[in-house]
Parts: sequence; structure tokens; C-alpha cells
Amino acid sequence: MASNVSILSRLISSYLLIIVVVLLSGLYTIWNLSEFNRLIRVVTSHDTRMIELSQECQDILISANASERKYFVSGDETYLRQFRDLEAALTGKLNELAALVDTEKKRELLESVRGACGRYAALFEDMAAQTGSRRVPADEVARYRIEQDLIVADTGQTLRELTRISSDERDDKLREIEANSVRSADAILISLVVAVILMIAISVLNTQSINVPISRLREKTKAVARGDFGDPLDIGSPPEIRELASAFNAMCDRLRELDQMKIDYISHLSHELRTPLTAIREASSMLEEGLFNEMPEKQRELQTLIREDCERLIRSVTRLLDFSMMESGIMHLTVQEAPLRPLVERNLQRFSAVAQRKRIDMRVDIPPDLPPVRMDAEKIEVVVENLLSNALKFTDDGGLITISARPRDDGKLVEVAVTDTGRGIPESGLKEVFEKFKRIDDGRGAVRGTGLGLAIVKHIIKAHGGRVWADSELGRGSTFTFSLPA
Ligand code: ADP
Repeated sequence: MASNVSILSRLISSYLLIIVVVLLSGLYTIWNLSEFNRLIRVVTSHDTRMIELSQECQDILISANASERKYFVSGDETYLRQFRDLEAALTGKLNELAALVDTEKKRELLESVRGACGRYAALFEDMAAQTGSRRVPADEVARYRIEQDLIVADTGQTLRELTRISSDERDDKLREIEANSVRSADAILISLVVAVILMIAISVLNTQSINVPISRLREKTKAVARGDFGDPLDIGSPPEIRELASAFNAMCDRLRELDQMKIDYISHLSHELRTPLTAIREASSMLEEGLFNEMPEKQRELQTLIREDCERLIRSVTRLLDFSMMESGIMHLTVQEAPLRPLVERNLQRFSAVAQRKRIDMRVDIPPDLPPVRMDAEKIEVVVENLLSNALKFTDDGGLITISARPRDDGKLVEVAVTDTGRGIPESGLKEVFEKFKRIDDGRGAVRGTGLGLAIVKHIIKAHGGRVWADSELGRGSTFTFSLPA
């Protein structure tokens, strides 16, 4: 299916798509990493700290219990102070724990620890006060001991429970982190694989969509080089190559046309050269065989014919040579200011015999005050000669040819026109007559010529900085006009 998307847009949109996929995968990875970081932060700053604090509380409780016992056994005030310091440290740790607890269950456990510790301290202070004021009976001491040991055991149990819950939570989070990292590794891998597949697919598609039409164009070029024009190349997309293909088709059409023109032209030119050569050969054979030995009049006629045909041949060959030199850019102009009239009259003189033979009236319409023109007189003579010879060639007997000249553009230019009452040129052929080898077929049969006369005229006039054009009406005549700087 032909698509109108240019090569540039295809490349840009493909690479944009790849960039979007890579960006999305990058964003997903960044999101995963930040989630990963958050969980690690929670584990290290929260759960691990809770476990540490619970264990520290257990240790402090055991140490406080030991200091308390030592105090009651030895009555040493150092142990009393030690106990109070440990109790203050325990309260501090419990407060820290309270700031960290995040579930109802943990809060409950912590509250029960705080309550027990409070009770423990109160019992201790009470017993310490009693020990200081009186001798405490042994059964009371034993009851006190049992109660305190129970509190210590219960609190230790509760703290262990807190530690267990926190470490379970920490393990859950670590498992979550692990699962997350596996998930993100999978996602990154999948997005990378998708990006690579996409990149390969897009590159292959893009390359194909450019390569296929280019190889068709290459094959077609090879075929045309072999001279096989075939059907026009039909390439739908991409637009750049479609335009290239249509330019290529136009070039092929022109080449085909030129090819055909070349074939026609060679056959025409061979005929053009062969006709006078055959006439010369026939005439000289007759003279050689002495057919007209007794008829000097006939001999002269044959000699004139030989001379005229030789001149015609020389003219044709000179034209070919002049044209090939002009085409290769070799044209030296010797520009001088000169009047036009003498040049035109010289040419009329040259063609007067032919004009008389065809009973064609040739008139000159050049005002006496026409300013001189800047020209290479020799070259402009060739121009007038070509235009006049065409006019004579394409005008039937009894016609009229006029050469007129007028100043134009406030005297900056001079326009010279050769008008005939000949067969005329069809509208479609007017522009083409100045093309090399172009001979307009107006359906009235072939007329001699090399098809180069007007192309030479155009070269010379362009080299002078002027312009040449044709107007014509089929069946009524033509006017060829050229302008020169005055
Ligand atoms: P050629 O040497 O074959 O005449 P030109 O280049 O001088 O070549 O002319 C090209 C074609 O232009 C001629 O073959 C003819 O068809 C047409 N042409 C030129 N001059 C005239 C004219 N005065 N009247 C009609 N057709 C003309």
C-alpha cells in the first residue's frame, strides 16, 4: 500500500517510538529503585532499630534485676544508684520504642512492658524504703522476690514477643524487596528485549521501504542503459523516491523521444547526403562515358549540377561542423557596430536566383535611419541566410518574402523579422522548431534540410544577448523574428 510518509518522518517517528520505549523502561526502573530504597530505609531505620531496642531493653532489665538483688543483699548504695540509672535508661529506650511502634499489637505489647516496668520500679522503691526504716520480715521479702521475678520474666517474654514480631516484619519486607528486585529485573529485561526487537523490526522495515524502491530504480536504470525502456516505473512510496521515479520516467520518455529522433535523423541525414552524392556520381559517370561529347550544352548543364550538389554537400557538412562547435561552447564573436541593411542585401543577392526561379518576390523594409547594431556580422549573416533559405524552401512558387527591421525599447534593441507566405508551422511545433534535429511534420511530405538551421540561429542570437522566436499561421505563412542590441 502506498504511504505518503516521507523518509525523514519515518525515521523520526521510528526513533521516537524506540526512545519512548526506552524512556518508559527507564522510568519504571527508577520507580522500582526508589521503592527498593524506601523499603531498605524502613528496614534499616525502623524494623532493625526496633529489634535492637527490644533486645537492649531485655538486657537493661536483666542488669537492673541483678543490681536490685545485689543492693538488697549488700545494702551498698552503689547498686541502688546503678539500679536507678538502669531504670532511667530503660525508660528512655521504651520511649524511643514508643516512637517507632506502628501497629496496634506492638503498641499493646509495649504498653504492657511499660506498665510492668513501672510496677517493678514502684515495688522496688517501696521495698527499698522499707529496708531503710525497719527490718523486713523474711516472708515479705520472699513474696517481693517472687513478684519481681515474675514481672521480669513476663516483661522479658513480652519484649521477646516484640522482637519476634519486628523481626518477622523485617523478614517480610526483605522478602518483598527481593520479590520487587526480581520483578524489576524481569521488567527491565522485557523492556530491553522489546526495545531491541522494536529497533530491529523498525530498522528492517525502514531499510526495506527505502531499499526495495531503490533496487527497482537501479534495475530500471540498468534496463534503460541497455536500451530497454519498457513500462514506466510505478513507485508509490516513500514520496521522495516516488518523485525520483516520476522524474526518472520523464527522463526515460525524453530519452526514448531523443532515441527515436536520432534514428529518424540519421536516416534523414543519410538521405540528405546521399541524394547529391548519387546525383554527382551519375553526372560524372555520364561525362566520363562521353555520352554528351557532341552536346556541349548538356555537358555544361551536368557540370553545373555537379557544382551545385557539391556546394549543397559542403553547406550541409559545414552546418554540422558549425553546430557541433557551438554545442561544445566554441563560438568566437567579433562584435562590432555595423549597419544591417548591407548585410541583408548581400543575402538577398545570394538567393535572388532561387527566388526568381520560384517567382517569389523578396522585399526589404528597413528604415534608412535604423541605428547600427552590435554584432558579429559574419555570424548574423549566417542567421539571415538560414532564415531566408527556410523561407524560400517552405514558400510555394509565387509567394512573398519580406525582411523588415525596426528599433525597439527606445532604440536599445533592433528587431529583424523574416516573413513569408509559405506553408506555416502548426501551433504545437512553434516552440520545437529551434530544437536541434527537429523537423516539423505538417503532413505535406519531407523537405530537404539538416534540422540544424534554426538551432544554429538560436545559438548565435543567444551569444549576442538577443532573443529569437517564431509566429505562424498554418497555410498562411510564418514570421521568424530576432532581436539584437543596438
Ligand atoms: P532544416 O535545415 O531541416 O530546415 P531548420 O532548423 O532550419 O532545419 O528548420 C527546422 C524545421 O522548422 C523545418 O524542418 C521546418 O519544418 C520548420 N521551418 C523552419 N522555417 C520554416 C518556415 N519558414 N516555414 C515553415 N516551416 C519552417
